[in-house]
Amino acid sequence: MPRILLIEDEASIARAVEKTLTMAPGFSLDWVGDPDKAVIEAIARKPDLVLLDVRLPGGDGRVILQALKENAATRSLPVILLTGLAGEGDKVLGLNLGADDYVVKPFGAMELLARIQAVLRRSGPGAATRRTAKAGGLELDASQRSALLDGEALRLQPREFEVLFLLAAHAGQVLSRDFLIENTSSYGRGVPTRSLDTHIKNLRKKLGRKGGMIVTVPKLGYRLDA
Ligand code: CA
Repeated sequence: MPRILLIEDEASIARAVEKTLTMAPGFSLDWVGDPDKAVIEAIARKPDLVLLDVRLPGGDGRVILQALKENAATRSLPVILLTGLAGEGDKVLGLNLGADDYVVKPFGAMELLARIQAVLRRSGPGAATRRTAKAGGLELDASQRSALLDGEALRLQPREFEVLFLLAAHAGQVLSRDFLIENTSSYGRGVPTRSLDTHIKNLRKKLGRKGGMIVTVPKLGYRLDA
């Protein structure tokens, strides 16, 4: 269920985007009209994709794009720019600020939808899940299945990677065994929780002197303390 965050001051454009998204069942739209709240809302709402107007009152959408790319929590969010003029979007993409695509206003519904779907596809299967996680010296990339600890590669089994990714992506929060089992795709239903405990044990070993980062919270689950 892809969630789109629209940053746009004009209500008429917001309505047009909302109408467009009703053509794609399962899409949902959050609209932020105040550019000053754009980054905060993007962090809070964790959308799968941001539609960002280039022309905003009191500023330029490019400033927001830059802020999104500089913030660790929003860096990997795909962004499509809404621009007023042909060529305006080219400039922003050309400036290498990190936008994924742009759509020129006034846009057709089908064009906007096609671009959104293409960007979501490019941002990987399960676009709803975050693709990178960093915590406590760990750097995990789900699309590359790479795991580093303090810059050194870790050799992880697929399930170990998934468990560690979830823990790192939610560092500081307790994750229940059920949550970890249900949200790691390699697990089938009915996998005994003992096997999760085994993966945790192996992960602690592989993290070496930092193995203690994975904390057992009695009766609740596990937490990664960065
Ligand atoms: Ca505008």
